[in-house]
Amino acid sequence: MSHFSIARAQHKAWSILSRSFRAGRVASTYLFHGREGVGDWSLAVEFAALLNCEQPIGDGDDSSISYPCGECRQCRTIRALNFEGLQFVVPIRSHKNDSEAIDFTNEVLEQKRLEPFKMLDTSSPINIPISLARRVKRSTSIRPAAGVTRVVVFYQMEKMRQSSTDALLKLIEEPPADTVIILTAEKPDALLPTIQSRAQKIRLERLPELAVIEYLQEKYDLTETHAQLLARLSEGVLGRAIDMAQPEDGDESSRRAVGLLLFKSLITEPAPAALSQIFELMDFRDRGAATELVRLWQSLIRDCAMYAQTGAEDDLVNVDFTNEIKHLAVPFANSNAVSAAVTTLKKTLADFPRNVHIAISLLALALKLRSDLAVPGDSIDQEATGG
Ligand SMILES: [Zn+2]
Repeated sequence: MSHFSIARAQHKAWSILSRSFRAGRVASTYLFHGREGVGDWSLAVEFAALLNCEQPIGDGDDSSISYPCGECRQCRTIRALNFEGLQFVVPIRSHKNDSEAIDFTNEVLEQKRLEPFKMLDTSSPINIPISLARRVKRSTSIRPAAGVTRVVVFYQMEKMRQSSTDALLKLIEEPPADTVIILTAEKPDALLPTIQSRAQKIRLERLPELAVIEYLQEKYDLTETHAQLLARLSEGVLGRAIDMAQPEDGDESSRRAVGLLLFKSLITEPAPAALSQIFELMDFRDRGAATELVRLWQSLIRDCAMYAQTGAEDDLVNVDFTNEIKHLAVPFANSNAVSAAVTTLKKTLADFPRNVHIAISLLALALKLRSDLAVPGDSIDQEATGG
C-alpha cells in the first residue's frame, strides 16, 4: 500500500512548485487557494522542506518532479514546525495583547502539528493579528543563515483586515533575499488586487477519494468501510472527514455523524452495502445508541420531506447537515412514501423497549424504510409489499 503524501494528493499544485524549484525559478510570493481542509498547510510545509532539503529525491516517472527526502535534519525540523526559517502568521481569536496573541498562535501551531488538515476553530471570530504580522515582517530584514531559504506563511489571508495589509504589501513588493512568502486564501478575490497580481496563484483541488481513505486509515486507524463513507461524505475535503472521524464535542456529535452516514447509505447505496454498514458501525449492545439513531433518522426524514416540498432551509432541525439534506431530499417529495416511513419509524421506536434483538430490529427497519421510500434495487422488498 502506498503512503499518503500531500505532494501526490495535490499533484497538479506540487508539479508546478516542484518544476519551478528544479528550474531555479521559485517565485518570491505564492498564493495557495482552495477549500480549507484540502491541504494548503501541508503543501506549504512540504514545499518549505523541498526548498531546504539536503538531498531531494526524484520521481521515477517524471524527472521534473522532486520530493523532500523526509530524513535530513531540515526535513525533520520543518515537518515538526521547529525550523527557525519557517514562520507562520495565523488567524486567532480576540486577544488582549501581543503575549496572548503569541500564546494563541502557538495553540494553533500545536493543533496543526498534530493534525495539519484540521480546520481552524471558528466558534468565535478569528483574525490575523496585525502586530504579529508586522513583527514577522521586521524579522525578514535579517538575512537567513547560509543555505537556508526562509519560508513565511500568512495563513488564511482573507482573515486579515484590508486596512492592515499595507505592511504586508511592502513585504511582497520588495521581497527580502532568500525568502519565499506563501499566502493562503479560500478565494483569491477576497484579497487586494495589488496582492493578487504580485503572487503566483496555485490552485488546490479537492483531494481524490482514495487519498482521503488512505489518510484516514493510516492516521485514524478506521476500518475501510468507515473511511470510505467519510471520504464520500466529505467530498474530497479531508478536514471535514477528520471532523467527522474525531468530533470534538464527544459522543453525541460522533453518533450524529455516524447516524447521518448510515442514513445516507440507506437511501443511496444497494441494500447489502447499506446493511453491512449498519453492522459495522453500530454497537448493538447499546440500546440507547440504537434509539438515538432511529430518532435521528426520524428528524432527518422530517427535514428532507420539508425541504423537498418547500425548498426552504430556514425550518430545518438538523441545521448542521443542511448541505446533506439538500442532496438527499429528492425521494422525499412523495408524501405517501414519507408518511409510510414515519409510521415505520414510530412503530420501531414503540417496540424497542421490549425488543431483545436490537440488531435484527434495526436491519428490518432499514429494509422496511427502503421499501417505504422506494429506494431502487430492492426487488425482494417490492414483492413483499406487493409493489
Ligand atoms: Zn531532506
